[in-house]
Amino acid sequence: MSALLTDRFERRHTYLRIGLTERCNLRCVYCMPAAGIPVQPKSAYLTADEIERLARLFVAEGVTKVRLTGGEPLVRKDAVAIAARIGAVPGVEALALTTNALLLEGRLPALKAAGLTHLNISLDTLYPDRFRTLTRRDGLHQVLSAIEAALTLGYGTPERPLKINAVVLRGVNDDELADFVAWTREVPLEVRFIEYMPFDGNGWADGELVPLAEMRASIEAVHGPLKALPGQPEDTATIFRVPGFAGTVGFIASMTVPFCAGCNRLRITADGSFKVCLFGPTEISLRDQMREGASDDDLHRLIGGAVRGKKAAHAGMDVLAATKNRPMITIGG
Ligand code: SF4
Repeated sequence: MSALLTDRFERRHTYLRIGLTERCNLRCVYCMPAAGIPVQPKSAYLTADEIERLARLFVAEGVTKVRLTGGEPLVRKDAVAIAARIGAVPGVEALALTTNALLLEGRLPALKAAGLTHLNISLDTLYPDRFRTLTRRDGLHQVLSAIEAALTLGYGTPERPLKINAVVLRGVNDDELADFVAWTREVPLEVRFIEYMPFDGNGWADGELVPLAEMRASIEAVHGPLKALPGQPEDTATIFRVPGFAGTVGFIASMTVPFCAGCNRLRITADGSFKVCLFGPTEISLRDQMREGASDDDLHRLIGGAVRGKKAAHAGMDVLAATKNRPMITIGG
């Protein structure tokens, strides 16, 4: 691990998230601003060659896990080809994808062959009408079918974890937590409940946030005490299991129980901006630098400078809610 990706707080950044597109086939209320976002021309997005160049550069400096995100990464026609190119980069130990799964089932065999090890599926409700309300589209059936297909293909194991990411909104889907957990009785899924976070245009209000403590209490009221499982300092989720259940339950509580001290994540947005923090508004356009002929040494200098400037932690939810950043859909989570 080189010093380039180690910040002033000795955090070693071994995990790179790369956005493939800002486009999506859903319109989730906590992600896509109601007014939508200006659609950038495809030329604004990193090409497959640029993505591979950056992935190779970061892996050479110590990144071992690369996650493909979006928008919805699979709406990009060459998403599987890009996955295969990154999966083939020596040093990539984990190739991950976060998807809404609407386009997943048919592409999963090819993604698995490309080396996909970690699969996260965004699903906030188990009810079709609520799915429509939350995503402004239909599609619950395809998502559930893709999850079945993933389990059949061997995801849902320690080597190929299958995780369900559910953003919890008060008064919208916070009454479904126990149902999601019941799903883990027989099925080796990791269901993670995500605290609602403020991003540009999502109308965030702390009244809609359901804190970890409250989520846990509502689950334990139905399933009994959760058993805490060991984790790593860099983990975003705190993980539990209902004793005797096949799957696990996680909480990603960046608002009420921030996990910045162990942060190992860096991000490149679909339009090629480098972000050292999800909530940090500061960015560098590596895309523009590359297209203006920057050498790898030039990129190293820019990346190293940004990592050295990374703050110890995010500014706290109230400050974040008032800080200009980006809409979530253009960051990729
Ligand atoms: S808020 Fe920023 S520093 Fe904190 S865990 Fe997320 S990316 Fe890391």
